[in-house]
Amino acid sequence: MGSRKPSAKAKRLEEFRSQLGGMDDVFAREERRKESDAAKRDAAQLEKACLSKNRYASYAEAQDAQAACAEYGTTGLHIYQCPHCKGWHLTSHPWENQ
Ligand SMILES: [Zn+2]
Repeated sequence: MGSRKPSAKAKRLEEFRSQLGGMDDVFAREERRKESDAAKRDAAQLEKACLSKNRYASYAEAQDAQAACAEYGTTGLHIYQCPHCKGWHLTSHPWENQ
């Protein structure tokens, strides 16, 4: 008949698990922090690539605006379809909106 008391081994295992639990929490917190940083980055990217820009309903409208800008001396604008609002925006930095 074995002892009903938890063996020293089981006790160590339990302690080890509780330490792991603590580590899990650290990782979970770190993971949540990363997610919230990513969410902030996404929001900043959205603001920059979409919300802060004029939106055109069609490529043709964007072309008109591009031509108007060129008349006023702003050349080199690129037209792209926005993945966020599905409208069209102009950008002078197309590589930032990929
Ligand atoms: Zn947009």
